[in-house]
Amino acid sequence: MEKQQYIERAEQAFYKVYNRFPVVFDRGEGVHLYDTDGQEYLDFGAGIAVMGLGYGCKELKDAMKGQIDKLCHISNLFYNTPAIEAGEKLLKVSGMEKVFFTNSGTEAVEGLLKIAKRYAYDKGMAPDYEIIAMKHSFHGRSMGALSLTGNDHYQEPFAPLVPGIRFADFNDLESVKALWSEKTCAVIMETIQGEGGIYPATEEFLAGVRALCDEHDALLLLDEIQCGMGRSGHMFAWQGYDVKPDAMSVAKALGNGVPVGAFLARGKAAAAMVPGDHGTTYGGNPFVCVAASKVLDLFEEKRIVEHVRKLGAYLWKKLDELVEKYDCLAAHRGKGLIQGLEFTVPVGPLVTHALLEEKLILISAGSNIIRFVPPLVIEEKDVDEMARRLAASIEAVTI
Ligand SMILES: *Cc1c(COP(=O)(O)O)cnc(C)c1O
Repeated sequence: MEKQQYIERAEQAFYKVYNRFPVVFDRGEGVHLYDTDGQEYLDFGAGIAVMGLGYGCKELKDAMKGQIDKLCHISNLFYNTPAIEAGEKLLKVSGMEKVFFTNSGTEAVEGLLKIAKRYAYDKGMAPDYEIIAMKHSFHGRSMGALSLTGNDHYQEPFAPLVPGIRFADFNDLESVKALWSEKTCAVIMETIQGEGGIYPATEEFLAGVRALCDEHDALLLLDEIQCGMGRSGHMFAWQGYDVKPDAMSVAKALGNGVPVGAFLARGKAAAAMVPGDHGTTYGGNPFVCVAASKVLDLFEEKRIVEHVRKLGAYLWKKLDELVEKYDCLAAHRGKGLIQGLEFTVPVGPLVTHALLEEKLILISAGSNIIRFVPPLVIEEKDVDEMARRLAASIEAVTI
């Protein structure tokens, strides 16, 4: 069938909440995607930081196929071995004490929110307690996670939201202190803001918020959905700081394309919820957990974190060369393989040109930032090729 026919059928059928690019993808291999016309694309978006191990990973496919033949789902009324394996591995790499598997990132954030509320309730705080979140954050689309997302554009049409959320300026400790009161029960933030434009938390900020939480017996909740799973050059981005959260969320790259997330907690946060407080039908089923478990094994076997540090440094150098060369590039930020280039102009036309003309998949974060979140298994030659196609697109569109 012709590409245009697929697109027309999709637009006819799907609820209209996305403006999609006119490409229909068919299959993937490594760091490349192929469309229904057989054209090859170099992917520096990884399905929005999901495909850490790239496309078509043989070991992962084999583990998933094996599980399909055995058992896909049983509900959480029973135990299953892939969930036990995946859970233990996740606790080991995170240093947390308890895990709950979810179906998505937004549900993992809902879990963090419920931990904060349950903790405040147990402490006997009045129900008007408050949670401090960050401006320009992104935590998901469900009502709780949306309430924590510091973006008026996303929030406004869906008000009223969860009450008691106050927004501080990211990396501005004074702004957190200014919002603090005896009602504050938790602080939530991304360790590296993703959607908001690739802003890593500073050492002083994260340490300062941790100290405030300790001083006032509040919980520090870190959203590692985008920056976690090796992407920052640490298994979880907070591990690059001298700070440990009370609870954290994971998703995106955890299942390498299989929808699975988790929230993890330790100490008092790990004990906050009790039987009956939370649950899920699909969450942690054997099929998704065999994927998460295998992904965690492969991260270790393939030494993904070390690879990210090496390739992250290489990507940094290549992007810096572009910053030197082109006046339309205003700033370069990030860590490991989560980097952002800020342009002086809107990047929409550039992203479209790169995709359609150069067959390079890039994704934006906000109107004038390009976010580089490639598969973690990229090689130097892929970075070179990306830089070449990006430069060609910059010259075609913005100069
Ligand atoms: C993507 C993302 C989410 C939401 O995850 P979904 O799986 O889309 O629900 C939450 N927080 C951060 C930081 C994210 O990047």
